Amino acid sequence: MRDFMARGGGHIDPDTVVSAGSWEAALRAAGGVVEAVEQVATDRLDSAFCVVRPPGHHATPDRAMGFCVFNNVAIAAEWLLANQHAQRVAILDYDVHHGNGTQDAFYSRADVLYVSTHQYPFYPGTGFWRETGAGPGEGYTINLSLPSGSGDDVYSAALDQIIAPAVRRYAPNFILVSLGFDAFWADPLASLRLSIGGAYTPLLRSARELAASLAGGRLVVALEGGYNLDALAHAAEAICHVLLGEDPPPDPLGPPPDQLNLAEVQPLLDAIRALHHLV
Ligand SMILES: [Zn+2]
Repeated sequence: MRDFMARGGGHIDPDTVVSAGSWEAALRAAGGVVEAVEQVATDRLDSAFCVVRPPGHHATPDRAMGFCVFNNVAIAAEWLLANQHAQRVAILDYDVHHGNGTQDAFYSRADVLYVSTHQYPFYPGTGFWRETGAGPGEGYTINLSLPSGSGDDVYSAALDQIIAPAVRRYAPNFILVSLGFDAFWADPLASLRLSIGGAYTPLLRSARELAASLAGGRLVVALEGGYNLDALAHAAEAICHVLLGEDPPPDPLGPPPDQLNLAEVQPLLDAIRALHHLV
């Protein structure tokens, strides 16, 4: 990657373009999240929200793809484990796309619980709910492959029925969140239906509460996707309030104009819960 960028860069794939300046940016993105987890692990910060670019969750251990060069969150998780700051790390991926790179990095390992909610079928094509890990990692990958149109109601049920119970059962020492605002209801690239007040705020409030009860409060959030600039701005502000233990201001962008009825998705949630023995 360094040599490719030093020669001026170009297209890695149709989505992923780099230039001579990308090496420094990609190092700072990955290094920024590592710095944040070190500060939190050593009690110099309570929590952190890393507004980094490029994002990371599509980057596999040996391939840049999908706007991502290095997998910032996966590298930070590995750093925590390698330096004995944690024995079990939970990664919650709330980007609208499946974090195939993060899944790949830890698919055969039990020391990282990877939980992803994403639109399915959709880019990058992975993350079907029956993908659950392999070998010693069996059961430590939880994919919620949700149909287009899923919104606040589906996410609220998914949080209560699957995500929070799975994290509590795993009892991580550290929680990382791959936070993409591209599941917002007006995002131009995708078609889930999350609002800031009805989904992003409760998802992050829950992550903070889980971290407080299980992991000594240790929580680091890193930005992944998000292509509606108003949503990016207001949701990022709301998340900062949540991390500070404050109530965010009223959601200026409001609830989704439409969303799937929970009843249409509940059978899928039931199947995922049964597969992961969360009943
Ligand atoms: Zn995304």
